[in-house]
Amino acid sequence: MNALIEGMREVRASFDEALSSVDSTEALGELRVRNLGKKGALTVLLKSLGKLSPEERPAAGEQLNALRDEMERTIEAKGRELRARENEAREAGERIDVTLPAKGRCGGSFHPVAQTMHEIVEILQGMGYSVALGPEKEEELYNFESLNMPSWHPARDMQDTFYFPDGTLLRTHTSPVQVRSMLRYGAPLRIVCPGKVYRRDNDPTHSPMFNQIEGLMIDRGVSFPVLKGTLSGLMDAFFGRSLKNRFRASYFPFTEPSMELDIECVECGGSNARCRVCKGTGWLEVCGMGMVHPSVVRAGGIDPERYNGFAFGMGLDRMAMLKYGINDLRLLFDGDVSYFLSGRDA
Ligand SMILES: [Zn+2]
Repeated sequence: MNALIEGMREVRASFDEALSSVDSTEALGELRVRNLGKKGALTVLLKSLGKLSPEERPAAGEQLNALRDEMERTIEAKGRELRARENEAREAGERIDVTLPAKGRCGGSFHPVAQTMHEIVEILQGMGYSVALGPEKEEELYNFESLNMPSWHPARDMQDTFYFPDGTLLRTHTSPVQVRSMLRYGAPLRIVCPGKVYRRDNDPTHSPMFNQIEGLMIDRGVSFPVLKGTLSGLMDAFFGRSLKNRFRASYFPFTEPSMELDIECVECGGSNARCRVCKGTGWLEVCGMGMVHPSVVRAGGIDPERYNGFAFGMGLDRMAMLKYGINDLRLLFDGDVSYFLSGRDA
């Protein structure tokens, strides 16, 4: 019995001494194993209880258990203290520098058509044009009549139109914004009108909804060379280099004379007879235009004897496809961005 008490005193003394020099949770774990583990000093003493007489055993057992509990509590308290200190040290070493650039940032980007619209608008704003917008649900008056297309006009057959039961319609072009803007702002006027338009077309090269952009200049003595200079400047700025161009006679009811602009093929420059973009012609039709018809100027509330002007319009979707090398119109509308994230023709 005395030997046991002496043993407990020794275990306790060496435990206290070792504890005072423990400075990490790892060292504390080792101290625990040395004393309370399967072969630990206190465990050895507990096992020696069997050597005592039955009378001595209960009191000795009680003392040993009390010592074990106390050592457990001491280790637990020391553990909490050490863990807190270690966390503090780790946090101090992990200071965050909020001025560092973020990693793997993916903030999204503009749709190619929106990007194209912004680019063309910006170029024209540099030439003094302002953005004008109009309703997509339009009246026949602005979509057709004011644009020199009365109900009997054959040009109405060129555009299959979505009508509402009340006789209004989904605009078939952005041109109604021209008349609305002339009526609202008068002359002189320089506007660019981007927007969605609708026609009853749906096949691989036509979508029932597509995007146009249109420009209008009304002033005194506007000449055809100004129109040609504006358009060739716009194309060169948009594609980022000087492109050959040609103007061909055409027909639109709201302009007279009317022209179409071709630019050299941006894909092959006319050097590839099998080019899929220009189909070997070396030219791309990009824009319709002309001098605004006097009756359209008059419909806009402006005296055609005093003012004249020009208008031009083009498909934004086509411009986006040409600039960004997109070969299928449907890719612009189906919402699958993987095509634009991976290689173009992959
Ligand atoms: Zn080509």
